[in-house]
Amino acid sequence: MEDLLEELLAECRPYTQQGTLANYIPELAKGNIDDLGIYVQRSDGRHYQVGDYKKRFTIQSVVKPILLLLALLDNGEEFVRSRIGVEATGKPFDAINVTDQSLLSEHLNPMVNMGAIAMCSLIKGATYEERFQRLLDLTRTLAGDPNICLDEAVYQSEKRTGNKNRALAFLLKSYGLLQDDVEEVLDCYFKACSISVNSKDLAQVGFVLANRGKLPQTDERIFPSRYAHYVNAILMTCGMYDGSGDFAVRVGVPAKSGVGGGIMAVVPTRMGIGIFSPGLDGKGNSLAGAQVLERLSKRMYLSIF
Ligand code: GLN
Repeated sequence: MEDLLEELLAECRPYTQQGTLANYIPELAKGNIDDLGIYVQRSDGRHYQVGDYKKRFTIQSVVKPILLLLALLDNGEEFVRSRIGVEATGKPFDAINVTDQSLLSEHLNPMVNMGAIAMCSLIKGATYEERFQRLLDLTRTLAGDPNICLDEAVYQSEKRTGNKNRALAFLLKSYGLLQDDVEEVLDCYFKACSISVNSKDLAQVGFVLANRGKLPQTDERIFPSRYAHYVNAILMTCGMYDGSGDFAVRVGVPAKSGVGGGIMAVVPTRMGIGIFSPGLDGKGNSLAGAQVLERLSKRMYLSIF
């Protein structure tokens, strides 16, 4: 397995140059385009890692499945389902999901920005500070890494420039899909996206989803197995946005990407995979990261189809 990962690293490193750093969040444009890290956590307890797997980057949209898990834990499936739909949008992550001049909760998807902003308002907590803290705590627990914290520079950068997300949040508000103060909800969303992680953290979170809610090593249950079913299904259909169909054909496992360059992949019952490579394709997914996953899937028969 070590040899295979080293081979994939060498084969896929050239692809890093074909991607583009996200520059609509100015701080992300400072990333190193050559970075490529891979971490695999297997269900037999073994883990394998190569390349820049220790490098930290912001979680960005890979926080969305964690937000969804917390929303489910706080409110139950029925309530969450009534507030945020599950249909794939087939659109970019920052798309305005308005259908025929109406916007209903069923038009939202938790894996794209509008749905994720709405999800921040479903998290329990007396203040939005407390809600974010609870999300950070859950991220630390799932990743088994108590040192995970906020990247203040990326948070400030995104808060300063995130006017598209502001527009999406005001649209939600105007359609009655957001009850709370827009700036407070957005602040929580921007902080959520700016949590600093590495490939190992993503592999660990992916593993808990693959392991139906139980942590590796201790087997402690963090969420009901039914929630893994719920989240993984949505990852499969919309985790890579309007690239989800292509990813399903090429790789065939539930996964979530973020514009920081992370991809978390879930191979049900078998493994969690964390990839980091900040060069993105036109849809905002890590270009070299998808190449690694495609090759790994073919070599290890990972596709669930
Ligand atoms: N924070 C980013 C945004 O809202 C997350 C998008 C992403 O990772 N695709 O624009």
